[in-house]
Amino acid sequence: MINHACNLFRCAVRLSIGLVFASQALADEGFKLVHHELAGGVHALLGPIGGRSHENHGLNANFGIIDTAEGAVLIDSGASLQGARLLEVEAARLTAKPVRWVINTGAQDHRWLGNGYFRNRGAEVIAHTLTAATQQRNAHAQLDSLRLVLKERFDDTKPVTANRLLEGAHITLNLGGRQIEVHYFADAHFPGDVVVWLPDKRILFAGDHVYVDRLLGILPQSNAETWLSAFEALKALGPDHIVPGHGSVSDLGRAQADTGDYLAFIVNGIKPLAEDMVGVDAAVAQLGDAPQFARLANYEELHRGNVSRAYLRLEAAQ
Ligand SMILES: [Zn+2]
Repeated sequence: MINHACNLFRCAVRLSIGLVFASQALADEGFKLVHHELAGGVHALLGPIGGRSHENHGLNANFGIIDTAEGAVLIDSGASLQGARLLEVEAARLTAKPVRWVINTGAQDHRWLGNGYFRNRGAEVIAHTLTAATQQRNAHAQLDSLRLVLKERFDDTKPVTANRLLEGAHITLNLGGRQIEVHYFADAHFPGDVVVWLPDKRILFAGDHVYVDRLLGILPQSNAETWLSAFEALKALGPDHIVPGHGSVSDLGRAQADTGDYLAFIVNGIKPLAEDMVGVDAAVAQLGDAPQFARLANYEELHRGNVSRAYLRLEAAQ
C-alpha cells in the first residue's frame, strides 16, 4: 500500500478557477482530508474522527474515489453542497476526470447530502433502495441539525436521493470498465447501510459498518445485533484493505479489534440483561465501564450512551 498523506487542498492549482477557490478556502482554514492510494486508481480520503464542525464542512468521515476509463466514481457525496464541491476538487486532482458516478454507502448526512450537487453536474447517483428509504426518512432532521453547525456553508443544500436504485443483497456494477460490487448484509449503523467491494483489488469501502481509531456510535436507529452479523458477513469477503467509515485505512485485524470486538461486547453483554429486563440503569451499571476500549477516541463521550441505546433496542425486541 502506498501511503501518501498530503494537504490535498493545496494541490488543486491545475483545476478550474472555481474549484481552486473552493480548495484554497479549505486550505486557508487548515482543514484537510488525508489521502491514501490503495491501489492504482483507488483512493481513500480520510476525514477527521471528531465531530462535525463549520471548519470541516461535516466531512468528518471517509470517502472513496475510483478512477475509471470513463470518469471517476465517488463513494459518498459529503454533507452539503459545498462539501460535495470539495470532494469534486479531490476527484479531479486525483483522476483528472469528472465525477460520473456517486455511490452512497449509508443514510447519515455526510454519506448523501452532497448528492444534489453531483446530480446537477450530470452524475449518476447510485444507492440501494433500503439506503434511499432511510435517507428520505431522516432528511428533515439531518437538515435541521446540520444547518446549525455549518451555518452559511450549508446554503443551497437539498436532500436529493439517488437516480439509480439497487435492489437485492449483492449487486455487481460495471462502471467505466471497473467491476464494483455493492453488498447489503443487514441494517447496521443505519438501516440500509451497504459496503462497496472491489473484488479484483480486494479493497473494501466499509462505510459505517467499520470504525477504526474511534469508538463507533450506536444511535437510536442503529441495530447493534444485526450490525454485528453484517460485520461478520463483510469479513467473509476476505479484504486485504478496509477503508472504514471513520478512521485509518486498516486490515481485518484492526477492524475486528476496534469494531467487531466492541459490537460483540455490546451484544453479548446486553442480550442476557435485556432478556431478564433488568432495566437500562442496571445495564449501564454493569457494562458502562469497558476499559479495554478506552483507548478509542470518543470513548468517554459515547460508550455509556451506546450501552443504554443498545439495551433499549434489545429489550424492546423481547
Ligand atoms: Zn458515519
